[in-house]
Amino acid sequence: MSETISIKSQDDCTASFATCSIHAGVSPDPTTGAVLTPIFQTTTYRQEGVGQHKGYTYSRSGNPTVSALEKKLRDLEKVEGAVCFSTGMAATTALLLTLLKSGDHIICSDVVYGGTVRLLREVLTKFNLSTTYVDTSNLEAVQSAVTENTKLIFIETPANPTLKLTDIAAVADIAHKNNCLLVVDNTFLTPALQKCFALGADIVLYSTTKYFDGHNATVGGALLTNDSELLAKFDHTRNALGSIQSPFNAWLTLQGIKTLALRLKQHCHNALIVANYLSAHPNIQKVTYPGLPSFPQYELAQQQQLGFGGLLTFEVKGGYDNAVKLMSALKLCALAENLGSVETLVTHPASMTHGPIPIAQREAAGISDGLIRLSVGLEDPNDIINDLAQALSTCEG
Ligand SMILES: *Cc1c(COP(=O)(O)O)cnc(C)c1O
Repeated sequence: MSETISIKSQDDCTASFATCSIHAGVSPDPTTGAVLTPIFQTTTYRQEGVGQHKGYTYSRSGNPTVSALEKKLRDLEKVEGAVCFSTGMAATTALLLTLLKSGDHIICSDVVYGGTVRLLREVLTKFNLSTTYVDTSNLEAVQSAVTENTKLIFIETPANPTLKLTDIAAVADIAHKNNCLLVVDNTFLTPALQKCFALGADIVLYSTTKYFDGHNATVGGALLTNDSELLAKFDHTRNALGSIQSPFNAWLTLQGIKTLALRLKQHCHNALIVANYLSAHPNIQKVTYPGLPSFPQYELAQQQQLGFGGLLTFEVKGGYDNAVKLMSALKLCALAENLGSVETLVTHPASMTHGPIPIAQREAAGISDGLIRLSVGLEDPNDIINDLAQALSTCEG
């Protein structure tokens, strides 16, 4: 196993989540006492003699700032280790290239991040990897999609952008009965709100770009697992592909994570207020938020998650035309492709994040042209509501 993998050691943070968010992975710099792990902005590391180094040789293979982030993620998730990548998609790429070979089959949730579908459909099919998109909230559908070549079940819950949930423990059972690995993209909830490993996941994937960073400052990704052999393989693939995270992005993400628990608590609080406001508005056709009793899987959300998250979707009466009017009229809420930041962001999935998905597949999955996704930020919820109110007033008639 290479030196860049975080191995559980005495410096494990076993404290509570909020405390680990602040202290895990980071200890005062031995030469200066600096409280923050420095940004190790270096390409290479001088070796004392042939084969004698301090664990780092070249920053494509490993970097101390990136290692600090990996230790923090590992301790927050309470697993064996984490491997950090330049983006969430780089993590997905490394995952699939490590685990699969020509002829293998993947079962993937029918609603996942658009970039994941683009990678599977437009890049990996060239290498004879096939994917079946399944409504993974339907357990029978998952079981009947399994073939003798299925190696991996890839789910996203809540799914981007419809927020449909998948029962992680039940799909883990199906995966393991069929000798498959279960991968959960837990980007929407993070370990603060969903403990995927306790529910049976084998691998958890993150775009750290979203809630871990939380400030719209970086792009980054991570793979976590309890299997040390797999960690070594992910690390090896990352070195081969050249897709390690940059030390500066790792450093910014280390700072962002310190407030992860606090931020997510407030994201949930604000999102529920906004969801209730929109539900009562006469110009709104439909609001989807796992914390509303009207949410079709409200019970599963309560049972599987530790909070309902910061994302909701809604449809304005009058469909696409009014959706466009509303999105153009917003002032505080920014029309942008991202989520999970302190800023409230509004996204039109059909034309933005889920543009890469063929129209028929998109519509079948419930991503209509009028659907609007709101990543509720940490502004005063009254200000978010006032902005939505003035924008909704332009949609009347
Ligand atoms: C953004 C996102 C990704 C991709 O991450 P990048 O950092 O943008 O490459 C993957 N999964 C989900 C759920 C996402 O929201």
